[in-house]
Amino acid sequence: MGNATSSSRHATVNLIRKSVQRLTAYTPGEQPKARSVVKLNTNENPYPPSPRVFAALKKAAAESLRLYPNPVSQPLRERIAQLHRCRPENVFVGNGSDEVLALCARAFAERQGTIGYFEPSYSLYPVLAAIEDIKTKPVALGGDFNWRMPAGYRASLFFLTNPNAPTSLLFEKKRVRDFCRRFRGVVLIDEAYVDFARENCLDLALKMPNVLVARTLSKSYSLAGLRLGYAVGPAPLIAALHKIKDSYNVGYLSQQLALAALSDVPHMRRNVKRIVAAREKAARELRARHWDVADSNTNFLWAKPGNGTAREIFEKLRRQRIFVRYFPGPRTGRHLRITIGTDAQMKQLFKAIDA
Ligand code: PMP
Repeated sequence: MGNATSSSRHATVNLIRKSVQRLTAYTPGEQPKARSVVKLNTNENPYPPSPRVFAALKKAAAESLRLYPNPVSQPLRERIAQLHRCRPENVFVGNGSDEVLALCARAFAERQGTIGYFEPSYSLYPVLAAIEDIKTKPVALGGDFNWRMPAGYRASLFFLTNPNAPTSLLFEKKRVRDFCRRFRGVVLIDEAYVDFARENCLDLALKMPNVLVARTLSKSYSLAGLRLGYAVGPAPLIAALHKIKDSYNVGYLSQQLALAALSDVPHMRRNVKRIVAAREKAARELRARHWDVADSNTNFLWAKPGNGTAREIFEKLRRQRIFVRYFPGPRTGRHLRITIGTDAQMKQLFKAIDA
């Protein structure tokens, strides 16, 4: 309200729940409007999704959106179950994997409990905990961002990003399995980038009573704009997520297009292969320029410049309309996170770096 006095504004703020007043919201990567930008900042896929998605879009647009969608995305659950050799009861479909993570924070930790995650990892997790007014119990990764878990560590829920972001590193499955066995709470293995990795932990979610795996169509399937993610795991945990979700959490169009995308896994695999090849090439080229590059299992590189600070290079690239991601802070501020783009985009990046 333009004419509200400061005291009435103060009173209005006090109508907001204290935990929400205190909350610092998650900051998504920048989405510049200009098309000419080389956009290597939010780990999107540079290639289009399967042609079947476009065909499904045309067909769906001709159909009626008059009716509500299937409330639990049943046809999609069945397709995902088929892909992962489990039952539909083991699958929850969400509005992006972000929704799956938010529902986990709500379902698997009491208010007086704790939510754990590695530092650094996906910066949304502490925000989800704060929204639920639940304390966090972060675990600082070891040197070179390797696995480190204090003996006797406890929490209600642990968000385990694997491969990790923004470090691009894959934690060994044996470590993950041992941790899940010892841990008393729920482990949500966030596999947003796993299609670019050499192995995955899906079988743990199908064998262990306290493990869920989250996947997304945003990266490997080139559908970040669709907002489609899912969880796989023990039926009782999946049923808990269904209890608390919005009645119609995934729209009709999203369900139809996701079904089309998941009917063309070979298309996804071909794109992943190109991106992995470009990733390895870019890592070699950066190393040749004395950058310190982590051994990536994702569609991005986590790299420390040989000369100049990360912030400087981030800003210089930005001025040349090349967007990469910079995370300030003592642990992350010496690195840049660079999404793998098309060959042409990578060429532009290296031209700018060399200049
Ligand atoms: N997990 C991790 C580790 C991510 O980096 C992202 C993307 N920001 C997500 C989950 C969320 O993906 P989605 O688009 O499915 O919400």
